[in-house]
Amino acid sequence: MLFTNAQEAKEHPKRVEKFKKATIKGWYYALEHKEEIIKIIKNKYAKNKSIEHLRYEADALEEVIQSKSIPIGTLDKGRIKYALQLYEKHGLIKNYIDVDDYIFESFHPNKKLQKSKILNSDEIDYLKNKKVIKMCIDPNWMPFEKNDKGKHIGMTAEYIHILEKEIGIPIKMVNTKSWGESLRMGQERKCDIFSLVMPTKERLKYLNFTKPYLKIPLVIVTNLDEFFINDISTVTSKKIGVVKGYAYGEILQEKYPNMKIIEVNNLKEGLQKVRNRELFGFIGTLATTGYHIQKNYIGELKIAGKFDEKWELGIGTRNDEPILKNIFNKAIKQISSKKQQEILNKWISVNYDREIDYTPILKWAAGISFIFIIILLLVLRINRKLNLEIRSRKETEKKLQELSITDELTTLYNRRYFNEIFPKLLNSAKRDKHNICFVLMDIDYFKPYNDTYGHISGDKALQSVSTCVKNSLSRADDYCFRLGGEEFGMLFKGLSKEQATQLIKTIKQNIEDLKIEHSKNSASKYLTASFGLVIKDAVSIKDENELYREADALLYKAKESGRNKVCVSD
Ligand code: GH3
Ligand code: MG
Ligand code: MG
Repeated sequence: MLFTNAQEAKEHPKRVEKFKKATIKGWYYALEHKEEIIKIIKNKYAKNKSIEHLRYEADALEEVIQSKSIPIGTLDKGRIKYALQLYEKHGLIKNYIDVDDYIFESFHPNKKLQKSKILNSDEIDYLKNKKVIKMCIDPNWMPFEKNDKGKHIGMTAEYIHILEKEIGIPIKMVNTKSWGESLRMGQERKCDIFSLVMPTKERLKYLNFTKPYLKIPLVIVTNLDEFFINDISTVTSKKIGVVKGYAYGEILQEKYPNMKIIEVNNLKEGLQKVRNRELFGFIGTLATTGYHIQKNYIGELKIAGKFDEKWELGIGTRNDEPILKNIFNKAIKQISSKKQQEILNKWISVNYDREIDYTPILKWAAGISFIFIIILLLVLRINRKLNLEIRSRKETEKKLQELSITDELTTLYNRRYFNEIFPKLLNSAKRDKHNICFVLMDIDYFKPYNDTYGHISGDKALQSVSTCVKNSLSRADDYCFRLGGEEFGMLFKGLSKEQATQLIKTIKQNIEDLKIEHSKNSASKYLTASFGLVIKDAVSIKDENELYREADALLYKAKESGRNKVCVSD
């Protein structure tokens, strides 16, 4: 794979594109002129490697690259997504990762715009001329957004990233120090859009508003000892803070004309003034106040009530270029609800998760009902985590169990599983008053086979014999085990003595028919096995040891009488 850094890709897409093209061209050339390249490598880079060595490398590489079926330079998004999902599943990635962010696609605005499925030709023309859209944000409003030393972070950064792809031209953040400064920039037309705003009368003078893409409940924060606030109109005689310039201040004042709304510079100041009892309460969003309470005021401040109205926020676009509103409305429509949920989860629950200290919160919650919402969020998240963990643990356990009941070489059940299932099967046959059948099988002259053909051939023969036996036992209730070296056990029930004998004789023949050459076998030209078969009415049997001993004796008899034989109990 060819890597570059994100900045290079963004700032010099043409250079990156050229580099990529040259690299691909080079690989094709190398594959078509192997001898030439081998010489170059030998002379310039690997003097101590022989030409044969390099030729071998070249051939091996060619086979791996498979350039005839998959063009060089192909990057399969699906495969990368699959790899990411595996990492996620095993808890190696915490946050959502968008594969698209990691795959270079040269940024030709016009090319992309022409492909746009959502915009009409006027809108495309407008964007072509515009080239870049300037955006103002609230520089200090986590978890929604923040100007982090010139970098736009938070929830809106992720939304804007998606919208940027939809509209096909870059959206650049304008550096500001406060929300007030951002608003001023908007009035002076120094920014084309606002990332996240609510419509107010005042703002309609210079902005249009898209449909909201975030709907946030408003809450009131008080000191811990205040009562739960059921009805906001009951607190209108008290001093309540809102951040200066925030739309809900304007709206609430209109709705509750008696409310004593005091403007503060920012959320931190507001919460501090509540803490110092300069203010009775502070109005903010569930997300932002929750975030800060948990960070700085645990056990001091609480969310004491919730407003019916939700704060609905969308993109604000300059009203002297009305086409912008249509463009962003169309782009917002493309954001899937799955994506929205992902962004929400990432910025809201993760932060709670990290900051929280559970014990005081639980004590604290006893008397306060509203905080339940936050706790609910947490519980849901913890549950989800637990469920994920349980699921992955179950999978692991299942794998381990599978491993521990099967034999690695032959994939038959192993001795451990035999010990577990033998008594169970016997009891079940007793209950059903069935015949039970137990067979011991041992390969003939296997030590000489190993000595003659080698251990590796021995292993292969064991595998072939195992597959053969497995395929010959076709019923779901038939079990076959590798009990040790070249000794096998078979268990089944419900067959008559004649049927069972016939079945085992067939297996014996099938093994010989594998035609595995065995010159030291006095019983045949090929590899064979001997069998001891016990078949009994289950009710008449004391325990599994009795069956085993009897089968062992019969096997011994089969060996003694010339091998490649089946000996059956009376
Ligand atoms: P017979 O049963 O006919 O009396 O003779 P035998 O040579 O098969 O007798 P024995 O049971 O004494 O020898 C079993 C041999 O099986 C010993 C060992 O060389 C071989 N063996 C056991 N386990 C494995 C294995 O996993 N791989 C290979 N290649 N050989 C194994
Ligand atoms: Mg043997
Ligand atoms: Mg043996």
